[in-house]
Amino acid sequence: MSQSISARSRVRRLPGRGMYDRAVIYKILDEALICHIGFVADGQPFVIPTIHARRDDTLLLHGAAASRMLKHIQQGNPICVETTLLDGLVIARGVFHNSMNYRSVVLFGVGRLLVNAAEKFEALHVLTDRVFPGRWSDSRAPSAKEMKMTSIIEFTIESASAKMRAGGPKDDASDYDQAWWAGVIPAEQKFHAPVPDEKLGAGIPTPSYLKKYKR
Ligand SMILES: Cc1cc2nc3c(=O)[nH]c(=O)nc-3n(C[C@H](O)[C@H](O)[C@H](O)COP(=O)(O)OP(=O)(O)OC[C@H]3O[C@@H](n4cnc5c(N)ncnc54)[C@H](O)[C@@H]3O)c2cc1C
Repeated sequence: MSQSISARSRVRRLPGRGMYDRAVIYKILDEALICHIGFVADGQPFVIPTIHARRDDTLLLHGAAASRMLKHIQQGNPICVETTLLDGLVIARGVFHNSMNYRSVVLFGVGRLLVNAAEKFEALHVLTDRVFPGRWSDSRAPSAKEMKMTSIIEFTIESASAKMRAGGPKDDASDYDQAWWAGVIPAEQKFHAPVPDEKLGAGIPTPSYLKKYKR
């Protein structure tokens, strides 16, 4: 990240919740599986969900070569990337103070299309193993045709912010002695036991790296 705090990434609303530490931002990015890409094309803002994988100060994004979003990025247009982890629902005595506990990041930067075949292949390897650790070496590698159908963007994080909320509700002082329940419903992303494909060949066991999948 060339610049951790910039005018566009400085959290102004509740600035005490803003953080710019690279390690904090990267941890959130690495735990999240999807992000949302914001861009403006022909004056129209779009926000598109997609898979991401962080590699150093970059995010790898991939998709169909025909993707409008990826084409827009490869033309050098700036984008804004967001991801959020939900940690809980915050229930306050006063409706006004209901909230959520979260860790979110907002990133700014530009991306470039990877054109070198070896570079592209390696990026796909990283992307695959970030989402499904151990899977790249335990499945069929993409064919030349599949590689051609896939665009991979390396998005460079120019500036970034994290924003976090944790803890219980913050009610008005006059409401604390009222009888309404208040507290937090903790939330987490949970993955269940793998369900074998109905066409799975007999005797193929579920790999241990998938049995214990979590982020
Ligand atoms: C799960 C969740 C629920 C939320 N619910 C609401 C809601 O209902 N209403 C509401 O008004 N706000 C909500 N927020 C907070 C919201 O994300 C914004 O921070 C807030 O609305 C202020 O927006 P702003 O444009 O005025 O921010 P500003 O502080 O003016 O934004 C300046 C810069 O700060 C950074 N920034 C702002 N917000 C975030 C963020 N969340 N994460 C990382 N960087 C950030 C960006 O770089 C932005 O360009 C929620 C956030 C999360 C994660």
